[in-house]
Amino acid sequence: MNIEPQINVSELDANDHRRIGRRMDLFHQQDEGPGMVFWHPRGMALVRVIEDYIRTRMRRAGFAEIRTPQALSRRLWEQSGHWEKFGGNMFSFSAKDGGDDVAAEQRDISASERRMYALKPMSCPGHIQIFNAALYSYRDLPVRFSEFGACHRNEPSGALSGLMRLRAFTQDDAHIFCREDQAVEEIAKFCRMLRAVYADFGFDQVKVAFSTRPPVRAGDDTTWDRAEAILENAAKSIGLSYKLQPGEGAFYGPKLEFVLTDNRGREWQCGTVQLDMVLPERLDVAYVTADGAKQRPVMVHHAVLGSIERFIAVLLEHYDGKLPLWLAPDQIVVASITDAQNDYAKHCVSELQAAGFRAVAALGSERIGRKVAEARANGVSVVFAVGAREENEKTISMTYGKKASVVLPLAYAMVMLRGEAFK
Ligand code: ZN
Repeated sequence: MNIEPQINVSELDANDHRRIGRRMDLFHQQDEGPGMVFWHPRGMALVRVIEDYIRTRMRRAGFAEIRTPQALSRRLWEQSGHWEKFGGNMFSFSAKDGGDDVAAEQRDISASERRMYALKPMSCPGHIQIFNAALYSYRDLPVRFSEFGACHRNEPSGALSGLMRLRAFTQDDAHIFCREDQAVEEIAKFCRMLRAVYADFGFDQVKVAFSTRPPVRAGDDTTWDRAEAILENAAKSIGLSYKLQPGEGAFYGPKLEFVLTDNRGREWQCGTVQLDMVLPERLDVAYVTADGAKQRPVMVHHAVLGSIERFIAVLLEHYDGKLPLWLAPDQIVVASITDAQNDYAKHCVSELQAAGFRAVAALGSERIGRKVAEARANGVSVVFAVGAREENEKTISMTYGKKASVVLPLAYAMVMLRGEAFK
């Protein structure tokens, strides 16, 4: 098996996330899946912590989580415009037959075309299908959906780079369907949440770029005037200062982009919020007004972290693998001082796990100093050492980062760490 063929991990900069990922045993990549990731148990723990955190944030902000199909028919991608604009970057394939696609048959679409499917490069058209499956009235809006979308994009192999640029990645994608008069408040709320989320991850410096209408675009100038005014008013309403990027918007609408700065001064664009005036039209999205008429809602696309995989790469490099306690894949190592305390160490691990901590035991015959050093190298900052005295007194000897060790009852240590260990 040829693991990480394109690069020799040991030759990379010590701070490179691929090298940190190898050191912490988080993930690997190999020839058979270029631009894809094999998440090891520790890496998956990190993915899950981040997803759970975002999931909770989104739920509290009024979003309903959904899941949409991994592959959809070519017909839908043509209707959404992705086939034309993005087709070269989509993985497509043929199914056994075209199923009962009556609409396609009526439009005289050939049997071979009816069999064509593509893996989703983004989740927007899927979310629209769920909105369209119900009949929403003006009273129901805003309707907010979120998904951890497993997206595939057929990037050239030369562009692939660790977790930074992949062919298969997870997007924390969300869409709001609302009335035009609700959009400013919805976008302002998102911007506030995004700042709080970045601060929780340890990024206090966030720059904002406002990208306006590009030369080639869909929609007339009055629609663009309104859309740009909505984003501008939202940014101003919460005192967000931004850099103007004239002409950099998407062809379907203007956007705000959020750029965070890591501890080496490098900038990473992660979050985005975009107003869309094209997809609702193309995919016939409508709600029912007070007088029973059909009206197009405004569609807002947003992502807080963008690609979860890429965000993990940024985090690993920002912290050099020494993640804050709430993010650490292993939060606590319980190390026995001699073999005689192995059972007590295992007991402490089960107690910690039952209380929700991610804990592992270090039961080898190495000296305790070596076990602490090894835990640190793996990015674990909390070590509970247990010797004969600790076992007799039902305590642990805790070292946390560079602080001097302290002997505590296990239950008390859990209470002390709880605030930092969970967000
Ligand atoms: Zn979208």
